[in-house]
Order: sequence, then C-alpha cells, then structure tokens
Amino acid sequence: MEQKMEIYEDLRQILEKAASVQAALALIEWDNETLAPKKAGEQTAKTAGALSGIYYDIMTGPSMDKALKQWKECGEDNEDARKADGTFWSIDEIASRMCCETEKERRLLSCVPREEYEEFTKMTNAGGRIWAEARKKKDFSAFAPELERIIEYKKKLASYRRKDGESLYDAMLDEFEENFPEEKLDEFFGTIREELVPFLEEIRTKGRKIDGSFLYGDYPEEKQEKLARMMAEYIGFDFERGVMAVSEHPFTTSFHNKDVRITTHYDQWLDHSLFSVIHEGGHALYELGIDDRLTRTILGQGASMAMHESQSRFMENIIGRSQAFWEPLYGKVQELFPDQLGKITLEHFIEGINQVQPGLIRINADELTYSLHIMVRYDLEKGLMNGKIRVSDLENEWADRYEAYLGLRPKTADQGVLQDIHWSQGSFGYFPSYALGSAFAAQIYEKMKESMDVDGLLKAGQIHKLTEYLREHIHRYGRMKDSLTLIRDTTGEDFSPRYYIRYLKEKYGRLYL
Ligand code: ZN
Repeated sequence: MEQKMEIYEDLRQILEKAASVQAALALIEWDNETLAPKKAGEQTAKTAGALSGIYYDIMTGPSMDKALKQWKECGEDNEDARKADGTFWSIDEIASRMCCETEKERRLLSCVPREEYEEFTKMTNAGGRIWAEARKKKDFSAFAPELERIIEYKKKLASYRRKDGESLYDAMLDEFEENFPEEKLDEFFGTIREELVPFLEEIRTKGRKIDGSFLYGDYPEEKQEKLARMMAEYIGFDFERGVMAVSEHPFTTSFHNKDVRITTHYDQWLDHSLFSVIHEGGHALYELGIDDRLTRTILGQGASMAMHESQSRFMENIIGRSQAFWEPLYGKVQELFPDQLGKITLEHFIEGINQVQPGLIRINADELTYSLHIMVRYDLEKGLMNGKIRVSDLENEWADRYEAYLGLRPKTADQGVLQDIHWSQGSFGYFPSYALGSAFAAQIYEKMKESMDVDGLLKAGQIHKLTEYLREHIHRYGRMKDSLTLIRDTTGEDFSPRYYIRYLKEKYGRLYL
C-alpha cells in the first residue's frame, strides 16, 4: 500500500511538472491576446516552441516511462487503496485514469518526430499573423499559400497519429472529441440539415417579424464593462479566482482551478459583450469546478471541447436567453442604460435577444442558425482533408454552402472564408465541438428540469443551484470520464440530438410561428 502511494506520488509529480509547462504556454497565449506588444510575436513564438519541446520531453521521457510501468505492475485494483482516500474516488481510480489519459497523450506526441512537432507549433504561430493581415486586406490569396502549407503539415501529422481504419480527418477530430469520428458526425449533421434547414426556411418565409434593433447603438464602453462584470459575478464567476480582460475574440483559459481567465470584447452591439461574458463565464465555471485532486494534472481539464462548449452554450443560450433568467436582472440593466433600454419592456428585450437573423458571420449567429455555420465548416474541413476540395476553390465552396444553408453569399473574404482564426492555427476538427456542445447542453437541460424547477430558481435569482447541479454531474469530474459517459451518467441515456432539435423547434416555433 505504502509503495503504491509512493508510485502514485511519483506519477503525479511528473504530471504536475507537465501541467506547469502547459500553464506557462497558456499564459503566453493569454498575454499574446491581451497585453503583449505587437512586435513581440516572432520571438515569443520561439519561447512557445521551446516550452512545447520541454512538455514533449516530460511526457515522453524516461521518468514518465518508469512511473507508468511501475503503476501498471502494482496497479491491480485493491480494496484498501480504494478506501484509503476516504472520498468518492480512490487513488486507484484517479491513477488508472491518469495513466490511461497520459498514454493517449504520449501516443499523440511520440508518433510525431519532435522537430516536426516544434516546427508545427512555430508554423501555426506565424499562421495566425499571416491570416490576420490577409483578413485586414480582405484578400484570401494572401493567406491561401500559408493555409496550403498548414493543411499539408496537418495531414502529415495526422498520418502518424491515425489508428487503423481512421481517416486523416478522424485523427484530427479525435484530438478534440474522441467519440465523434466522421461517420458519427455525418449522421449528426445529417439530422441538423434535414430538420433545421427547412425549419429556418419556414421561419424566414412565414414567421412574424421581431425587432432587435434596440441592441445596436450608443452603448458606452465603460457601462458595458460594468454590465459585463455584474453578469460574470451574477452567474458565479469568482473574481478572486479569476480575471476578466479584453481581447479581439473572447476566450477562456485556465492555469488551474484557482486561476481561470476570461476575455470579452466591446462594440456597438450590446448582444456581443453581454452574451460573450455569459458564454465564457460558462466555460470558466467548468474549469473552476474541477476537483482539487485533479487540477494541475492531465485530468484537470474539461472532458472534451464539445463538453466544454456544452457548458458555455448552456449558460449563454438555454439559460442566458430565457425570460426567467432576466426577470430578476433586467431592471438593473435598464438602470444602467436608461436612454437605450428605458422604454424597452422585458418581453421586447427577450424577443430581441432571441431574434433569428441568418447572417454571414459565425460569431454573430443566433442560437438557431449557429449550427448551420458549423455545418459549412465541417463539410469544408472534411473535403480539404480527403482531397475533394482544393484550397484554390475554397472561397467559392464556402459561398455555395452559405447560400444553400443560410440563403446568403459573402461578398468579401473577411465576411466569408477569412472570418475564423482556427484554420490558421491548425485547428482542424475543432468546429464540430460547437454544434455537438449545443446538443449535449439541450440533453442535459432536459434532465435537469426533471429534478429541479429551473425557471422558478432563475426567477428567484438562484442560478447557483443550476451550477451546483452541473458541478455535481459534470464539472468536478474534469477528465475522469469522457463526454459520452458524462452524458449517460447524467441523463441515464446515450447521447441523442433529438433533444436539441426539439428544444430549438419548440422555442423558436413559439416565438415565430
Ligand atoms: Zn466557447
């Protein structure tokens, strides 16, 4: 037993060292997006490259080999160890899961030659800058050669990583969400296409008109910031364990469960800053809720990107755009913006924040059309990776799909193919997480309603009860369980997109038809 504890401590120490390097990388990324001077980029990319090399060494090095081997040798489940910890997870359970996740990560890392791994980190760092320049100039051809290089490199890395029977794109998807290869996503997006494209068409042609124009206008930045802080606090973001800053695109990062950071962005559309803070706040609550024994190890992060998105989209859309949520709050928002919102009733405000407006820009998309934006990207990523779509045709292929799904064609590249940063960073396979996350959220919500009066709690200002539910079922587990197990254990059923479709059709049918 004693020996077992020692081996566990060894393993944990190495994982904590690796997590420290990851935290340093995350801090650099945070800094790049918020405070770093413009010219720092090139040198900082080298710092990041060196750190990722150190991470590689720790994860694949001889100390780790030894710790994993020793655990395997003594790691048979033993009742004493199970009870020793006195809590709901035994050391055995934690260590086994750590080994399992570490083995996966090592496989991902070590099947790629180290120089190539560092090269790719540098390439994607530069890719982000080239993309930003091209976007400013609205010129896809200024980015296309770099994108071509990134795709080729990405394919090469995926060919090392893929398992038997997997496509190259499967290997990329697997990095973000291991339970959804192409075959399953084809089915998922097939359902979305069949159900939501005609439903949107019905709303566009037969739906009543809703006015959300009051959300645009002169909303002074200081007041928006005040509102953002108030909203973050209201949903339970802890400013003693978190920081909020401004960046071009809002994001969340976490160094451990006592330091979780969110960013937001202010412009003339109040919806933006209001709901990005609730969205990022949802991500942050997840990270803040991870169990102390898991934080700063490989298990101290969300189960998957899709599960992470489920938590942010749950807060942003299902909760944050509901009338019950705003009942105790809206008066305070009116007080802050008497000229802009003084005459707008709560009912009008709720309609406005739920206005369906097919558009060209993903990050401005409403809840109903959002998944259609993702479907465009899924189609294109798949095509780029299996060779059916060429980079030189990408701009057109993009426009054709927007026309088919949303009824609009972009006129400039910044409104089209250049709008997202993801591909420039090599993040192929990430996009589906957003749509899956929304579907996970709807299924969890359905179950949550069986055990609590969600609207009643929201009206009474008791949103923390919802967070407690999520912490109990999802957050604290970090990576102890994968996303499908979390869904099954929380809802008693396997994942199904039907809850998501039903939720959307009910909500927007009520509003529009
Ligand atoms: Zn998100």
